[in-house]
Amino acid sequence: MNLANVDIIGNIVGLNSFELNNIIVGNSSLSGEGLWILPSYFNHSCIDENGTQYILGDLMFIRSLRPILQGEELLVNYRSGESNNEIRLMLLKSMGIDCQCRLCKLDKSETPETTHKRAQLLNTVEKLLKLVTNEPEPEPSLIKKLEKTIFELHNLRKEHPELEFDTLEPNRIISLAYRKNGNLRKALSILKGVYNSYKNVYLKNINWIVLDIVSLCTDLKQMEEARKWVDILLKGSVEPLLGKFKDEDKWKKEALYLMEKKKLIRL
Ligand SMILES: [Zn+2]
Repeated sequence: MNLANVDIIGNIVGLNSFELNNIIVGNSSLSGEGLWILPSYFNHSCIDENGTQYILGDLMFIRSLRPILQGEELLVNYRSGESNNEIRLMLLKSMGIDCQCRLCKLDKSETPETTHKRAQLLNTVEKLLKLVTNEPEPEPSLIKKLEKTIFELHNLRKEHPELEFDTLEPNRIISLAYRKNGNLRKALSILKGVYNSYKNVYLKNINWIVLDIVSLCTDLKQMEEARKWVDILLKGSVEPLLGKFKDEDKWKKEALYLMEKKKLIRL
């Protein structure tokens, strides 16, 4: 009698399955884990992936994000590079992945002093964020203190601003704080700065920033600007999955249909 080794099966499933979040199948929304044989052959890159995966029903599709050379390794992102650094590194370690992306190389090249300084600054940012988030109208001095700490954090990677992800979410919260205090223009300029820092990197979470920009433009009655950012949101959500739209007149209608009916927005 052949007995199955539960540990081996567990490892195969654990190391090759993909996490599902609110996938629409029929009228149901599913979350959990799924195993797709061919996509499980793709290796991981935190920031330099050349493919992105999405799911329709129980099918997984992988689309290239840029032209791929013959013989080039196919890479998808098991976990976004912009997500919490500590969690990302723990995940890579637990899966035995020696990632060679620009972000991991930069992490490894930093001195222990820089790593220590970053940990200190992150600790301060975390405390200040709690205070700012809990206030209905945050104290301007508190916001300034947070901005100063984030600036110092950003400076640790000033040579590689597009790989500095620790300040992404804090900047979003600062923008929200200015918004709560009625300074919508400042809130908008912070978010536009954040978007511009990362526009040459493929970040799934950037859509949250674009949505906030649309909302601020609308509140400021900058309707033409709001429409421009809605187009950026639509293209950023749909094009990585379905390729560049060829018909400029039809693309928006098609993109809106896909986002609404197929829940394709990448948030
Ligand atoms: Zn990496």
